[in-house]
Amino acid sequence: MIEISNLTKVFGSGDAATTVLDDVDFAVPAGEIFAVVGPSGAGKSTLAQCINLLERPTSGEVIVNGESLTRLDAAALRRARRRIGTVFQSANLLSRRTAAENVALPLDYLGVTKAQTRARVAELLDRVGLADQASKYPHQLSGGQRQRVGIARALALRPSVLLSDEATSGLDPRATDSFLSLLREVRDELDLAVVFITHEMDTIVKIADRVGRLDRGRIAEQGSVVDLLLDP
Ligand code: ADP
Ligand code: ADP
Repeated sequence: MIEISNLTKVFGSGDAATTVLDDVDFAVPAGEIFAVVGPSGAGKSTLAQCINLLERPTSGEVIVNGESLTRLDAAALRRARRRIGTVFQSANLLSRRTAAENVALPLDYLGVTKAQTRARVAELLDRVGLADQASKYPHQLSGGQRQRVGIARALALRPSVLLSDEATSGLDPRATDSFLSLLREVRDELDLAVVFITHEMDTIVKIADRVGRLDRGRIAEQGSVVDLLLDP
């Protein structure tokens, strides 16, 4: 379960202050896919960075399984980040590392043994259907395959929340559909709370249980996909 509570982000100060997120409020229970949709400039990438704890909100909270992750010291913040796995736009893989090495990255920093890492990476790549691509470099993979590696890496530390930040932007329709089915499968298997951020209205229709429409930093409305589409 992730709760975004009265989240506000202001960049700059005084006359130059820009309010990019204004009192954003929503909750995503385990097992649900909540989409945040909005046009360019609405504040989606700032919201994504607040959710995965790369940006500190000006006020408000990010709460995972009842614990606020917003005002932590550096050590606690590092631990808290493990609870949220992120799949980025264009996967954001290291180009000089193989698929397996990219998936292993989050484990490398934890002092996990080589044998444990190897086993976990194999399991994750198998889960996303890429067991036979482990030694490929990102440029040897298709865009869809790279996003699957991104999912495997995001799941490496067994998060309870999965954040998808424009992860299907740039994928063709077939790769998008296959990414969405994989997302749904891992959501079901791992009982993840999924926050799916996108500017693509047609994608949320296929994936979202509920939707929040972000408009100039505010959640203008939230509800089922049908509610949102029927609203004039
Ligand atoms: P989106 O991802 O929906 O396109 P962003 O979160 O990137 O939206 O940006 C929302 C608004 O916040 C934009 O007007 C952008 O110029 C502004 N913005 C983003 N980051 C900063 C920053 N570091 N300083 C000042 N303004 C920013
Ligand atoms: P400050 O808040 O001190 O002006 P920053 O916003 O850049 O500066 O954050 C300082 C440090 O806090 C950075 O190392 C950043 O990674 C970390 N940080 C960012 N977001 C959070 C958060 N949600 N909770 C705790 N620390 C955070």
